[in-house]
Parts: sequence; C-alpha cells; structure tokens
Amino acid sequence: MKIKQPEQITPQSKNFSRWYTDVVLKAQLADYAPVRGCMVIRPYGYALWERYQKILDGMIKKAGVPNAYFPLFIPWSFLQKEKEHVENFSPQTAVVTHGGGKKLKEPLIVRPTSETIMYYMYSRWISSWRDLPLKINQWANVVRWEMRTSLFLRTTEFLWQEGHTAHATLEEAEKEARRALRMYQKFYEKYLALYPILGVKSNQEKFAGAEKTYTVEIMMKDGKSLQAATSHNLGQNFAKSFNITFQDKDKKTKYVWQTSWGLSTRAIGGLIMGHGDDHGLVLPPRVAPIQAVIIPIWGKEDKKTKAYLEQVKKAAGNVRLEVDLRQEVSPGWKFNEWEVKGVPIRIEIGPREQQEKTVTLVRRDQLGEKITVSLEKLKDKLSSLLEEIQESLYQKHKDFTEKNSLFVDSWQEFKKAIANKKFVYAYWCGSPQCEEKIKEETKATTRCLPLNATTKKGKCVFCGKPASQRWLFARSY
Ligand SMILES: [Zn+2]
Repeated sequence: MKIKQPEQITPQSKNFSRWYTDVVLKAQLADYAPVRGCMVIRPYGYALWERYQKILDGMIKKAGVPNAYFPLFIPWSFLQKEKEHVENFSPQTAVVTHGGGKKLKEPLIVRPTSETIMYYMYSRWISSWRDLPLKINQWANVVRWEMRTSLFLRTTEFLWQEGHTAHATLEEAEKEARRALRMYQKFYEKYLALYPILGVKSNQEKFAGAEKTYTVEIMMKDGKSLQAATSHNLGQNFAKSFNITFQDKDKKTKYVWQTSWGLSTRAIGGLIMGHGDDHGLVLPPRVAPIQAVIIPIWGKEDKKTKAYLEQVKKAAGNVRLEVDLRQEVSPGWKFNEWEVKGVPIRIEIGPREQQEKTVTLVRRDQLGEKITVSLEKLKDKLSSLLEEIQESLYQKHKDFTEKNSLFVDSWQEFKKAIANKKFVYAYWCGSPQCEEKIKEETKATTRCLPLNATTKKGKCVFCGKPASQRWLFARSY
C-alpha cells in the first residue's frame, strides 16, 4: 500500500491565512461544504467544540441559566419589529418562501440570532415581577449569508450558544451583561489559555439593537484582533418592540430590561490562531480532546511489547489518551500527524523504554526536548506537565499580546504601529467620522474602550480635538 506523506503546512511568516487554512484542513478540524460559505465540522473539530460546550455549559448553568430550544424558523414580520436589528440583519438573512410545495403566506427567516423569536415568547411568559428574572440559554446553529467566508471565523452557518435574560431593573440587566462577560473572560483565560482584552464597543461597532455591547478581544499571531465573544445590555429596545411588560410590586406596568450574550465556533478559529505554529495546532490541555498520544516504536509487536503497552496505559492514569497502533505508517509520520493535531504530549515507547521500564515524553509546545520518566512516576508527571503546558501557553500569549501593544499619540505613529501589526491604544474623540476615516486609511477599527481605561486629558489621534480616553484600535477578523 502506498502511503501519502503528510503535506507541508505553509509557514506563518510566508502567508498567515494560508497557514490557517492548511492547519484547519490537515488537522482534520473542518472541510469545505458543497454550499459556498458552509463548512463541515469533522469529528476532531467537533470533539474540540464538545469540550468547549461542556465547560461553558457548566458555567452557564452554575450562573442559574437553564437551556431551552427555540425554532429555526422565524416569521418575517418578527425581524421587522426592531428597527436597528432589521437594518443590520436583513441583508444577511436566508428566507424560506416555499414549504411543502406551496408558496407560504408569510416568508420565514432562518434565524440569524434568536432575539425576536425568543422575545415574542417572553412577552407571553412574563406578566408579573414574580416571573423575573427570566434567563434562558440556547445551543443552536444560526445562518448569516456572508459574502466573504473563512473556516470557523466567518461561515454562513455556525454553531453557538446564545443567552437571553429579562430583568425588572436596568441595574440587574447591567449586572447580568457583565457577569456573562466575566464568564467568557474566565473561559478564555483558564481553559483556552488566551489573554483577552475586555471592553465596550463604540456605537458603530455595537450589536444592532443593543444599548451597550461588551466584547472580548484577543490578539491573533498575525497581530489582528478576534472579537471572541460579546455580551449586550439591550436596555428596553426589544421589550418595547415585543411588548414585554410586567406588573411591578408597585402595581405599575413596566417594560423589562434585557441582555443577550454569545460565543460561537469562531472561538475555535481563535484557539488555532492564538497558539498554533508552523507544525500545526497547539492545544491547551484543558480543551484538548486528546491530551496524550502513545506511539510505540518497535519493528513488530509481540506478546512482550503488547504487555508493556498495557502497563503504560494503566500507568498513565486518567488523562484523555490515544494509542496509535497503525502499522502502515512510520513513527516519524505519526509524530508529524499528532503534532499537526496539536496533542499536548507524545509518549514514545520502544525497546529501550521497555527494558528500562520507562517512557519518553515530548511536549507539543517544546518539540525537540525529551523527558524520560519511569512508569511509577508517569501518572504524576503527566498531570503536572499538562498543568505546566496550560500555564505556559497562557503566559506566552499574554507576553505576546503585551509586547505587541503600544500607546500612540500621533497619527504618523498610529499608521506605523497598525502597519506593524500592533494593538494600538490611542485617544479618540468619539466621532463616527474620525472612526470611519481611520478605518479607511489604516483598515484598523475601534475594537473597544477597555474596561480598565483611565480618564485623562488627551487629543484625538486623528482630528486633534479633545478626547479623554484611549481606545483599542487594531485590524480585525
Ligand atoms: Zn477625532
């Protein structure tokens, strides 16, 4: 049988977006679907998404938000109810006009997001202060007809969770929007080992229909920012469009205050571009579907080698373990393949290891260094190594982000810094015109006003008018 050698991955320095696509395809995370802009998430990519789901779902439930499911189809008229929402989403919607061979009386929209369908139901379910707060999360697919697509980062159909809450007061809604933001921060820091910048979106960049949008921005290895999750304080905009009212304790009828928040399969793209290298994926142990892979290196298997393999498996403890027993490919071929897939630790066992009752470990994030460990110590070593890798990946990404972030005060410096792929913190006067011109000239947008921004006297980096806070600017996905 002729074995296809693994193809080369384009180096990041040569062409970052080709590198990205190569990794997604060669690690078998996803593939292109027959419908343009759609993707097939392959088992390895879906296992990663399931890890995300498991962790985040636990956090959402712990915060007192249960799951439910709302329909894929939304009546056309629903989308028209909130003005900004319809303006933003109409050009991107997929519309069903026929069903069962007949033209429908009212066309149906394939959900681009579920505010409208959920809030229609909320208006039926909420009547008293006793019904509040109402909090529901949904795991679902949504469809937005995108013109320019990229696997995981921007696809016509994608998977996500969307949380939707209704409260009696603005303060409660604001608290919930911030809670969700902090939840995403924790998810990225603790599990994905990525260093996020939290902040508030400009009016131009906020969610259509929101009063305020909080965002998680993460620096990718090419210096671009990925909007990695968002949380919106919706105020009473949707409550008024969908007439979601309640009788308060003072007997007065009031509109509810709402939030929505979401994280999508984009977060897989962020993981790839936040940690990946020229060998492929680098997965943080806490989300890696496979944490360690055993690769036996002997000419042929016999009773003895099989027995030793069993001993090693047992000694490894309860890490998520894979054993690569394929005979048709060489160990070197296997090393390469598991490196592309980003498995945190490789466990090599050969005749020498068998003789000495040891194994040889290689970290994905430190290829070339070999660690010998005895069978008795394997379990402890693996668990401490996995922790070390997790920590070191986070530190590396934090250092990278900080090293590539600049405070800038002149327009010349600004242009140079953006061209050099930096995160730029600069004063901005708040005018949409300046924001638009900055985008035209540099392709950089306001990513957010960081939550920890201080107020000082400054001048807008573009027009020179007074400004009081530094915004984060960057090119983005
Ligand atoms: Zn300005």
